[in-house]
Amino acid sequence: MSSTLTVSHLRKTYGPYVAVDDLSFEVPEGCVFGLLGPNGAGKSTTFKCMLGLARATAGSVLFGGKPLEPALFESIAYVPERSVLYDWMTVAEHVEMQRRAFTSFDPKAAYELLAQFGIDPRKKARALSKGMKTATMVALAIARRAQTLILDEPTSGLDPINQRHVLNLIINESARGATVIFSSHQIGQVERAAESIAVIDRGRLALEGAVDDLKAGRKIVEAIFPSETYALDGVSGDSRVARLDRTGRIVRALVTSDAGEFVTRLEALGGSGVRIVDLNLEDIFLYAVAPSDATADVVGGASK
Ligand code: ATP
Repeated sequence: MSSTLTVSHLRKTYGPYVAVDDLSFEVPEGCVFGLLGPNGAGKSTTFKCMLGLARATAGSVLFGGKPLEPALFESIAYVPERSVLYDWMTVAEHVEMQRRAFTSFDPKAAYELLAQFGIDPRKKARALSKGMKTATMVALAIARRAQTLILDEPTSGLDPINQRHVLNLIINESARGATVIFSSHQIGQVERAAESIAVIDRGRLALEGAVDDLKAGRKIVEAIFPSETYALDGVSGDSRVARLDRTGRIVRALVTSDAGEFVTRLEALGGSGVRIVDLNLEDIFLYAVAPSDATADVVGGASK
């Protein structure tokens, strides 16, 4: 698969503050790619640098191997995090503006999409709710029939039905060959739509890969210990354990292989109700950005 989008060593500083730091990832052509990260991680800044709306301090962004140039704007649709609709214009006037600006824009598709979202095109943008503004921007972007869609929180403020609809539209766009990169704090939505993800944390890449690959072979093993004082002899040093979290009597270990054998080990140490849990994207995200609760082998004062 050729790579549509290549972000290499991207860096963006605001004065002394580093918003994006040596960020590199690739988005294959036709892929739905989720950009995840805590508040302030640098997702919007990354999108703005990709589109030349913020000047990167260093690094490069290539679309199909080429740097961003005016001719490429026709093939890229962008939905920013905040509304860029003109308050004094109606939705229909926005449709007309897009028709004039982009040759591939399909006004009929735009009106159909707006109707699906329940948006009256006669309304002025200032009369739209937050969610309706987001839906309008998504409808206008989808109707562009663009090769690349960059969507910054495209489900923000939408009700669950419209959120689901946006996800379906994203999947449809990819099915027709478009590349979609989107951010969302709704990790379940990203899991549903995205084939690959990058997690950024404080401007830096924390994790990247195909969702299936990130889950493959990894399991969570959970156990309950009889009291809050217990020893986990050498468990955190076990090469299968990528992470160990303990909350009171409950131990949760992220294991990268041999989950069944690891169950036996925890049972031998006194754990009960030991079970293997499949990893979901939320676990992967939290493991990437949240520090481990416990790294020592001992909790509650027992010795190793
Ligand atoms: P959220 O999920 O909350 O939308 P984000 O991951 O999109 O966050 P960004 O909006 O990219 O995060 O912001 C990254 C960091 O850069 C934040 O600390 C933010 O305060 C800072 N930042 C963004 N724009 C500017 C600016 N114009 N001037 C100074 N700092 C900025």
